[in-house]
Formats: sequence, C-alpha cells, structure tokens
Amino acid sequence: MGNISKDFNRSEFACTGKDCCGGAAPMHPDLVTALQHLRDLAGVPLKVNSGFRCIKHNKEVGGKPDSYHPLGMAADVAVPPRMSAVQLVALAEQVPQFANGGIGIYSTWIHVDVRSGKARWRI
Ligand SMILES: [Zn+2]
Ligand SMILES: [Zn+2]
Repeated sequence: MGNISKDFNRSEFACTGKDCCGGAAPMHPDLVTALQHLRDLAGVPLKVNSGFRCIKHNKEVGGKPDSYHPLGMAADVAVPPRMSAVQLVALAEQVPQFANGGIGIYSTWIHVDVRSGKARWRI
C-alpha cells in the first residue's frame, strides 16, 4: 500500500541528491495517476529509479535543463524481471498521459513523463 497512490509511496520519488533539497518529492498528480495506471497494467511492482530531481541534483546527474524531473512530471522506471524495455514501453503507450507525453527507452529502464505533446526517444 502506498501513501501517494494505491501502490506508490511519496518517498519512492524523493530526490536522491546530497546536500540539495533534502529529499523533496513534489510530484505532479498526473504523473502519479499515470504511473499507477502503468503499474496496474504491468501487474507487478515497478521500481522508480529516479522521480523528482531538484535543479541542483538534475545538473549533477547531467540532466537536461528542460528536463521534466525537476517539475515532478517524470519518472525513470526499472524494467521488471521477466519483462523487456520494449514490453514496458508498449504498456506505457496504453496510458493516455504517457501516450500524449514523453517516453524514452533505455536498456534496463524507461523514462515516462506527462508533458503536453508527444516525445519519443531511444538510446
Ligand atoms: Zn535535491
Ligand atoms: Zn528520466
């Protein structure tokens, strides 16, 4: 049980930077709703590798200045065991907020965000 949605806790989205915002996690409600939808479609727990990143931490990890992480509108989600990144992305495409937002595919994780406007990339 989570305290921010059915399965997610706010702490899972906390900034992991040192000496910055003190682990803030001001998440956009649309991101949380969409991520819960994705989790329901996946049917297995999803691990958030990176949720909120304050401006300082975003810079430290080489995030783009226009990243949606500092806005609380993005999450990097680890691909669960027995699933491929392509399969997880296919589920994300079924979530309206992600389908109309940003989806990036990496080898062991995917990026999803709830920007207004479709963006897709693949590393
Ligand atoms: Zn921070
Ligand atoms: Zn990301």
